[in-house]
Amino acid sequence: MASGHDGRFAPSPTGPLHLGNLRTALVAWLVSRAHDGRFLLRVDDLDPDRSRPEHEVSQLDDLLALGIDWDGDLVRQSDRLARYDDALSQLDAQDLTYPCFCTRAEVLAAAAAPHGPGVEAPYPGTCARLARSERTARVVAGEPHCIRVRAEAATIGFEDELLGRVETIVDDFVVRRRDGVAAYNLASPVDEADLAIDVVVRGADLAPTTPRQVWIAERLELHVPQFAHVPLVLGPDGARLAKRHGAASLDELSARGLDAAAVLALLAASIGIEPRATDTSARDLVDRFSIDRVPRGDERIDPARFLDGSGWSSSRIE
Ligand code: GLU
Repeated sequence: MASGHDGRFAPSPTGPLHLGNLRTALVAWLVSRAHDGRFLLRVDDLDPDRSRPEHEVSQLDDLLALGIDWDGDLVRQSDRLARYDDALSQLDAQDLTYPCFCTRAEVLAAAAAPHGPGVEAPYPGTCARLARSERTARVVAGEPHCIRVRAEAATIGFEDELLGRVETIVDDFVVRRRDGVAAYNLASPVDEADLAIDVVVRGADLAPTTPRQVWIAERLELHVPQFAHVPLVLGPDGARLAKRHGAASLDELSARGLDAAAVLALLAASIGIEPRATDTSARDLVDRFSIDRVPRGDERIDPARFLDGSGWSSSRIE
């Protein structure tokens, strides 16, 4: 990878980290630490209904159990709301935002183009066409609304370290939710720039939304980092690994006899590092890590097979 290697991991404290999240965290950490980069931990706690302090604590414990440490204080998005408001005002000042009164159901019903599973429907621009006077009257009357950007279907792409070229048409996405809180796609690029992050490593499920964040960074004249979207770990049924697949979190695995070092060995094998019996911490993997050996495609695994000690490769479902 070119340029700097300061990175971060940014979990949402909405539940325990599972093997897929832990693998992404490990890759993010190794990308930075293998090049003596800084590594920060950002807590994406903008969703007040789903974020819980106890999940934050268990996530930090799990990362530390694997030897994934971080520099400086945790950064919580909930502490940065004023900064996001400021970013929103800068977009307003460029006339790049508008209030949207559509409900979720209306957006889904109006979305013309088919969209893939898990991919949010592109907003069809209904409220962009409202007359300014009507828009103002509805806001003044207190009608619930979110704020969207006027992206004018810009085509935005980036070179991903793992996925190659990713390019999409950016829709009029939400930058402030109906509850008045900044949306992730606004907050994230502002954070990366303010924290001087060189490389963003995160799950491949977020790759389709990254062009939106690049769009924000460009409009606000913020530094655009490099990206590496780590393929997902799926359960035997092909759905993203989740609690119902069993043995997906460090706690569940440890309850079934796999300690943190054993999980580290599984994760190492999953990113192309031959595990050694002497590995006890992520630090032990630094010299053997190369991003070139991280798999490029999503993988289906059967966590049940870990429990007989057969390792990552034999738990892969080909
Ligand atoms: N908080 C997001 C998640 O856990 C990740 C955000 C990011 O890494 O940019 O899916």
